[in-house]
Amino acid sequence: MALTYSKHFNTTQTPQSEKIPGSKQVKNSAGGYSFAVDKWTQLNRFLILGTEGGSYYASEKNLTIKNCDSSLECLKENGVRVVDTAVDISKTGRAPKNDPALFVLAMALKLGDEETRRHAAQKLPEVARIGTHLFHFVEYVKAFGGFGRNTKRAISDWYLQKAPENLAFQMVKYQQRDGWSHSDLLRLAHVKTNNDIVNSLFRWAGTKYDENFNEDFVGLPVVEGFERAKKAQTAKEVISLIDQYNLTREMIPTEFLSDKKVLESLLPKMGLTAVLRNLANLTRAGVLEPLSDNTSFVVDRITNEESLRKSRVHPVAILAALITYASGNSARGSNTWTPVTQIVDALDDAFYASFGNVEPTGKKLVLGVDVSGSMGHVQSIRNPLSYGWGYFSGTGIAGVPGLTPMIGAAAMALITNRVEKNSVITAFSHELVEVNISARERLDDVLQKLQKITMGGTDCAKPMLYAINKNISADGFVVYTDSETWCGDIHPIQALQQHRKKFGINSKLVVVGMVSNGFSIADPNDAGMLDVVGFDTATPQLISDFVSDKF
Ligand code: CA
Repeated sequence: MALTYSKHFNTTQTPQSEKIPGSKQVKNSAGGYSFAVDKWTQLNRFLILGTEGGSYYASEKNLTIKNCDSSLECLKENGVRVVDTAVDISKTGRAPKNDPALFVLAMALKLGDEETRRHAAQKLPEVARIGTHLFHFVEYVKAFGGFGRNTKRAISDWYLQKAPENLAFQMVKYQQRDGWSHSDLLRLAHVKTNNDIVNSLFRWAGTKYDENFNEDFVGLPVVEGFERAKKAQTAKEVISLIDQYNLTREMIPTEFLSDKKVLESLLPKMGLTAVLRNLANLTRAGVLEPLSDNTSFVVDRITNEESLRKSRVHPVAILAALITYASGNSARGSNTWTPVTQIVDALDDAFYASFGNVEPTGKKLVLGVDVSGSMGHVQSIRNPLSYGWGYFSGTGIAGVPGLTPMIGAAAMALITNRVEKNSVITAFSHELVEVNISARERLDDVLQKLQKITMGGTDCAKPMLYAINKNISADGFVVYTDSETWCGDIHPIQALQQHRKKFGINSKLVVVGMVSNGFSIADPNDAGMLDVVGFDTATPQLISDFVSDKF
């Protein structure tokens, strides 16, 4: 009879469709059992991954509501910590997009206690670093009840803490967004100053296009240059204004933005992010051609580690540029270009460089990329495979068209694989595939290769079972997943325990969460397991520190 009992109640081997007896596992969206992440881990996931595009299991709306509920719990426990977390992730550029940080800051400013509200208001200029951020923030604030005393003070500080020439640059470069303009904000926040130059700038924002204001702009050349560019008749005129006033792309009338000579004069002044976003335009206009000086300039720009660090360009921005540019097609498919190979290669290098220097541990690591169905989908990209590589539609992670959790997972695995000589990449769903990837292969080719092996069910125990079967005494497992595991006959942590037992070592498990849901296969009570967030620029180093016991 003893045998029958342990068949039904066994803490060392439990099917994933059942809870490990005595554990605090919860039912995940796939019907299997995982652990619930705590609210602070959830906050990190939200701040870094966002909820844009939803997930395979949840619409964008439902996923957002779940994340907001969890953020509210954090606010109740420690509002100042919520603000500081958002500020830190935003300022260090760890997240692909700044919107979740702006959203959380707006939430703290409107729904926190008095101390939290004041703190959030004070931190606004640090999180809203450009005009567009400010407009997004105001739109979020509106959703939480609109302009109160703290909001007004925060907005007022945003304008008045800047040097007039910087403020003018911001106001000219980013004039409106989300239906908001600077004159709206200045009026609603009652921004007042005694500085004559700033007051003339504010008057300009309210009465733009009024020719009588021209003489007021002495001391604010960027406004003058912008106004003059609007009236320019020829590309030659525009070019001389660009040189004279240091104008940026946003300050140039659209009709001149496909002109080769105009783009050539803008190129040296473009920030790295602008360069990445305009590679296709620049190629179409003939500015970038194989072996041209402009191409060398852009290649140097993209691969310069110091400028990558300084401009805090996120790896996702580089990945998005690489995927789109190499495809030769825009998201809507209306524009085509012939990608310049040197640029594509430079983007590949830049992707790895953008994570900074990750210290190799020399440890033996099995990297497991979840390629099950749910990882290949977000709500708005139902089946990218049926269109083939290069066709991108719908919103993916961080709003990047076509960027699914699986592509993100593979890209993150490649970073660690490149750093760690003793690591192997595997892909798993209900079965496991050894993926032969050479460090010489280009990122977009590798991703394409991985995308082709997308399979069905999900068994997150597979990487550990693989090591047990293949006699690999791995020091650690890194699993890139949404933790929606359900189809295995043993839970991932039980497989890990078996691995530990077999080799007599404390093999570790790092779970790289690729979707901002509430689940993890890691047991929060086991110090040998760690939850980190996919696409956090800090993640590769965190993995390195954790597997080499630096925690
Ligand atoms: Ca799955």
